[in-house]
Amino acid sequence: MTHLDTEDVRLLVVGGGKAGKSLAMDRAKAGWWVAIVERDKIGGTCINVACIPTKALVGSARSLLMTRRASAMGVHLDDEPAISLDALRGHKESVVGRCCPPTRRCSPSRGWTSSWAPPASLPPHRRDPDPERRHPTDPRQRRRDQPPELARVDMTETETRRTGHRVAVAQIRVSAIPRAKTLHDTTGSWKVVVDAHTGQILGAALLGHNAGEVISTLQVAVLGGLPYQRVRDAVLTHPTMGEGLNLLFDALADQPAHRAAHQPSSDEIPSG
Ligand SMILES: Cc1cc2nc3c(=O)[nH]c(=O)nc-3n(C[C@H](O)[C@H](O)[C@H](O)COP(=O)(O)OP(=O)(O)OC[C@H]3O[C@@H](n4cnc5c(N)ncnc54)[C@H](O)[C@@H]3O)c2cc1C
Repeated sequence: MTHLDTEDVRLLVVGGGKAGKSLAMDRAKAGWWVAIVERDKIGGTCINVACIPTKALVGSARSLLMTRRASAMGVHLDDEPAISLDALRGHKESVVGRCCPPTRRCSPSRGWTSSWAPPASLPPHRRDPDPERRHPTDPRQRRRDQPPELARVDMTETETRRTGHRVAVAQIRVSAIPRAKTLHDTTGSWKVVVDAHTGQILGAALLGHNAGEVISTLQVAVLGGLPYQRVRDAVLTHPTMGEGLNLLFDALADQPAHRAAHQPSSDEIPSG
């Protein structure tokens, strides 16, 4: 971790829960040096004991109900489906473990501090293969047990460039979306193309769990002519796959072509 003097820190956030982390990351992206102090578990209530673990358990309950209904769907299972408490606990713990911030694992030890650097000093973003070029029927890329859905709306990146748009492109891994983690279904990636000047959403390709449902949300945004910032900043239900749209559009801030057109002033004061 980079060494920081107290004088370098522009913002000290007390509490590493959803609110504290979001504020710290937001200001770090705006170029501030930020320090965060957490007395217990980084991630706070939501990741460690509330939203995420409860949805991991709900996912297990849904799986149990689905297997009980399997025969009505023409699927015959040999044994009566049952829950193993140890396996259930292991599933929940592994989901919570994967939801911790990238810099540190959640730790049961008390007392935790860290700092976030402005994005320029972070390592380059690693990307998944382009979902526009992947197809779920390609056996080399398909997970044998569960091929991910592919859903698209409007133009591909190539098509937008052909039409002469100056575009900004964002891509995220499905593994970054909390809901996907609770379901142990993290295969795939999402990609979106926007007009770098107007923020208009020009097209998207989503590969992964429930892509066919989430694309409808995006389609409605496109039909309504919403600039991508409206979707990026919308408070979407947590944890859902649709919430991944916040992350997808937020990734646009890292685009050089887009930064020139939309980067906020580093002196902008956080709201709330
Ligand atoms: C069972 C349950 C299920 C839920 N499910 C959902 C859901 O599905 N979707 C949803 O949107 N919301 C859900 N919620 C609500 C959600 O958990 C809260 O809205 C959210 O955690 C609030 O975030 P926060 O950052 O304000 O507080 P917290 O997450 O509680 O974070 C505050 C942090 O500050 C730290 N802290 C406090 N004082 C100090 C100090 N003096 N020094 C250092 N650190 C300090 C604490 O240790 C804590 O980590 C659920 C809540 C519960 C209880």
